[in-house]
Amino acid sequence: MPPAPASAPARLDNIFVSGTRVGVLLPLPLGSVYDYVVPDGLTLAAGDYVHVPLGPRRVAGVVWGAGSSDIAAEKVRAVAARIDLPQVPEATRAFLSWVANYTVSPPGAVLRLLMSAPAALQAPDARPGYVLANSDAMRTDARKRIADLLVDGVARSQADIARGARVSSGVVRKMADDGLLRSVPLAVESGPADLHPTGDVSLSPDQAAAAAQLRARVRDRSFSVTVLDGVTGSGKTEVYLDAVAETLAQGRQALVLVPEIALTGQWLDRFRTRFGGAPAEWHSELSQGRRRSTWRAVAEGRARVVVGARSSLFLPYRDLGLVVVDEEHDGSYKQEEGVIYNARDMAVALGHLAALPVVLVSATPSLETMTNVESGRYTVLHLPERHAAAQMPKIVAVDMVAAPPPRGAWLSPMVVDAVTAALAEGSQAMLFLNRRGYAPLTLCRTCGHRMECPNCKAWLVEHRYAGRLECHHCGHRVEMPKACPECGTLDSLAACGPGVERVAEEVTRLFPEARAAVMASDTMTGPAAAATLVRAMAERKVDILIGTQIVAKGHHFPLLTVVAVVDADLGLDGGDLRAAERTFQLLSQVAGRAGRAERPGTVYLQTYAPKHPVMRALIQGDRAGFLAREAEDRRRGGWPPFGRLVALIVSGTNPSRVESYARDLARAAPRLTDVSVLGPAPAPLALLRGRHRFRLLLRAQRSANVQAVVRDWIRRVTAPSGVRLQVDIDPYSFL
Ligand code: ADP
Ligand code: ZN
Repeated sequence: MPPAPASAPARLDNIFVSGTRVGVLLPLPLGSVYDYVVPDGLTLAAGDYVHVPLGPRRVAGVVWGAGSSDIAAEKVRAVAARIDLPQVPEATRAFLSWVANYTVSPPGAVLRLLMSAPAALQAPDARPGYVLANSDAMRTDARKRIADLLVDGVARSQADIARGARVSSGVVRKMADDGLLRSVPLAVESGPADLHPTGDVSLSPDQAAAAAQLRARVRDRSFSVTVLDGVTGSGKTEVYLDAVAETLAQGRQALVLVPEIALTGQWLDRFRTRFGGAPAEWHSELSQGRRRSTWRAVAEGRARVVVGARSSLFLPYRDLGLVVVDEEHDGSYKQEEGVIYNARDMAVALGHLAALPVVLVSATPSLETMTNVESGRYTVLHLPERHAAAQMPKIVAVDMVAAPPPRGAWLSPMVVDAVTAALAEGSQAMLFLNRRGYAPLTLCRTCGHRMECPNCKAWLVEHRYAGRLECHHCGHRVEMPKACPECGTLDSLAACGPGVERVAEEVTRLFPEARAAVMASDTMTGPAAAATLVRAMAERKVDILIGTQIVAKGHHFPLLTVVAVVDADLGLDGGDLRAAERTFQLLSQVAGRAGRAERPGTVYLQTYAPKHPVMRALIQGDRAGFLAREAEDRRRGGWPPFGRLVALIVSGTNPSRVESYARDLARAAPRLTDVSVLGPAPAPLALLRGRHRFRLLLRAQRSANVQAVVRDWIRRVTAPSGVRLQVDIDPYSFL
């Protein structure tokens, strides 16, 4: 559905006077459009937020269009009220419908992504509030109690003050009359900052050329996809912030999607430098109050720039003019629960439907994106060099067969020497291992028993700092037992393999004088702790940083010269379609932390397969060759992006019901020439959070309409009670 031009006059078929029927979409997991009648005295338009009765409840929804009239008049209830908020723009409604169709999800489940802060629908508190006007000594005890209550500077309503200070409302009023209290509107939750480009950065010629292109796309006010492809440290962020500045100059809103909020400590500092204020942030860790005020500020158009995780794509923008997807290749853009979607792909769809430019940013763009560049659908801008004097780091393989670490250790002599040399010259080192905890497997030396999760088919990971075993899939935790739970032998449990905590232990042994720190999502208590550690590293208060992929994201540590990847092969096996591509991207990003300023950097890849195409490509800096070979393999096999995949995941607590439903689905599989179905097979994670799981995989030619095929297929087989079917279009996870 193409969006109407913004200047089109209000269409009559989108205005509903009292007595007519409207279809209201409700944000419920299985929700769709329900008919209501417009009551006397109310006129509604498509896109209005409304309250409607549903059974005994009252729920909020969005007017989606005219009602469908085949329901008996006496069964149709009236809309309760219109909610005072700007309408959901037509392009946004078209986008939500498109997402529901593309992901084979109920439209109500997609509307829930938009209506993600229900409290924001309530009108802001219009009552006046009071703060202390002066801190003179109060004459009476009642007035003293009021002063004590208000000393924190927080505005409170007259009723709240009376209750909190145990006085009558009259006392509060009298104090205000006497000028001791000052009246302020209660509703002002600190609003979004005013942003003004400061114009402080001077871009290099390459950067300026790319920025000019992006500014032009923003001024076009039409759909385009531009890939900003530049090596790590080339200034991609500075360049796309220029496009954000242009969007502000156009009076429109800009969205910057980032993979993980941990990235944004340094990012926010840079943003503030350029715009003199903070953007609105949107991610899962926001407090309820912040969610409410941010959602409303976005809907009312007061929030000019949003930076957030994948879900911020579904905020109720009033006038969005730009979407930037930073690190577009990142796997965390894939939402794996509920409505399963890839935010990078949905951003492109939104750009198309809402006629706005999309910028995909990466040093290692995905094969999907590069294929679209080659076919001419996307435009590419290159930043081939690092900013200022910085050079790309040298990458070397450490052959773990030829020069292994000593027994019981994980760092090869070559890496130990490099770290020693870096510390001697006052530089920093980073050791990367994408595995949290101390050891991934705990084994009984006497009977061979492996410590497994009772809810998942997975090993428990030892977390020695916390003194326990943890399941990384469901969060199950147990104290580290003293004896083997199987054979009862005391002190027989042995840690197998390394996690970051174990590497840190080795670092302490090897470099007792060095200041070492571990950075993993579980060793820090939140974004603030992460930001503190990043700052300490940037200010060289840490000598050796040991971390998981969280250390790889976007950080800029000027004195970091040695980066060692403890297990470069991790992630290469498992038969995942994108294993090689993902490993290449992750290791490129890790490598990109080294030598970002004057001092040159070296990256050591500890590997048992130094001849592997991924290692060779990294060492030779041959991204193009690597991608070309990857593309060739996938083209030959008909794999994405040259073919389509849909995964069906069947799960439930009763294993035989799950399996029989999976088999029923297989029997009913579509028989078409451009489609084939594999499975069912027990999922690699055959038990997850207490649910047994089977998978089916539909492979199709690029041209196939997989959504129509899947919808028709799953409609023909009813799931038994307690068994759930998830449809994953374009799957990234094959667990
Ligand atoms: P990328 O996003 O491509 O990895 P960044 O935008 O993070 O690169 O830039 C790397 C570093 O260089 C940052 O510290 C950034 O502030 C700095 N930088 C990049 N371009 C400029 C510029 N034109 N002027 C000043 N500093 C710059
Ligand atoms: Zn588990």
